[in-house]
Amino acid sequence: MPGRNFLFVPGPTNVPDRILRAMHRAMEDHRSPDFPKLAAPVLRDLKKIFKTADGQAFIFPASGTGAWEAALCNTLSPGDRVLAARFGMFSQLWIDMAQRLGLTVDILETEWGEGAPIDRYAEALAADKAHAIKAVLFTHNETATGVTSDVAGMRTALDDAKHPALLAVDGVSSIGSIDFRMDDWGVDLAVTGSQKGFMLPAGLGILGVSQKALSKYESAKLNRVFFDLGDMTKQNATGYFPYTPSLPLLYGLRESIDLLLEEGLDNVFARHHRLAEGTRAAVKAWGLELCARQPKWYSDTVSAVMVPAGINGAEVIDIAYRRYDLALGAGLARMAGRLFRIGHLGDLNELMLLGGLAGAEMAMRDAGVKIEPGSGVAAAEEYWRRTAPKLEQRELPARAPEPQAAAPKARAAVPA
Ligand SMILES: *Cc1c(COP(=O)(O)O)cnc(C)c1O
Repeated sequence: MPGRNFLFVPGPTNVPDRILRAMHRAMEDHRSPDFPKLAAPVLRDLKKIFKTADGQAFIFPASGTGAWEAALCNTLSPGDRVLAARFGMFSQLWIDMAQRLGLTVDILETEWGEGAPIDRYAEALAADKAHAIKAVLFTHNETATGVTSDVAGMRTALDDAKHPALLAVDGVSSIGSIDFRMDDWGVDLAVTGSQKGFMLPAGLGILGVSQKALSKYESAKLNRVFFDLGDMTKQNATGYFPYTPSLPLLYGLRESIDLLLEEGLDNVFARHHRLAEGTRAAVKAWGLELCARQPKWYSDTVSAVMVPAGINGAEVIDIAYRRYDLALGAGLARMAGRLFRIGHLGDLNELMLLGGLAGAEMAMRDAGVKIEPGSGVAAAEEYWRRTAPKLEQRELPARAPEPQAAAPKARAAVPA
């Protein structure tokens, strides 16, 4: 199909041209004396994205799932108890991984569409006087339901219970897009990947680790080889990796971190919030509901839109893709068919998102959803017009003056 494919799944996200160009490299020797000049500053600057001064950043040639595994297998031992809420596909998958690694998971079953139940986490921690629970698994942004939970609240609950469990947070679809503060929130393990807020292709598992979590490494007895933080730390100290890193992705990550820091993390978060609010205005104008039950849980990176009874969300997605070249996210597991998801994270602005909303609107109408044509697009437009930064606030150079007709020059007297 001519024109661009409109990529509105919540990861992978659009890769900005600057990153694409940065990744377009001939391969280099990853044992060369020059290599640490690339790797060491990337590892250092990742800490600014995690917002940690004391913690350490790790990069694996993997995906978010790899970083999940690295977080668990370097800090825990077989049979250790961990506490986790299950309220969507991703929290479910992390629980499943923990069980398959040999951990015992105390599961807090929670309605899909609700946020992580801090009060129930708190109760379970308070009841655990013997401190058998070694880690709390917490999904910051549940991408399956478009729900963001309160990491700071989870930290307060741990502190109030004076419980020493590690706080392991899945930030795969939040870090670099939604406010995330590893040190302030006492996050011990911050899990992410390259293909969401970092605007890169998939291929990196990225992990932030606190000193407290690192101190568990020696006593943690789960098996680990590829994800061993000890091997990684030893090599990273001199700017190298224990095995072959993905060179294009490291160059891309360098550019991605620069892009995020140039825009300013607070501006990045504000932009995501504003784009999300416009999307939510569209959903409201369509007369549809989000999967997220309460505004305090609304995600600024993904909106999961419930389709009306009698409509198959998968059909909306199929029509959007085949007829309009628009990729929307599917309903996962128990949400299959009941919703579609609009990813609004990464390298995105209002007009790109209007394209996605327009396509969703067309596909929904084709699939039989009774919505007013243009209603969602109009609501989003009006929201973004109302909240647009004033022209004078934008740090763009003023428009170049239009070329003026040259003032008529006095004619030199023509010699007679
Ligand atoms: C995408 C995602 C993952 C899985 O990451 P992969 O890179 O696909 O391995 C885990 N958790 C959340 C919240 C995600 O959005």
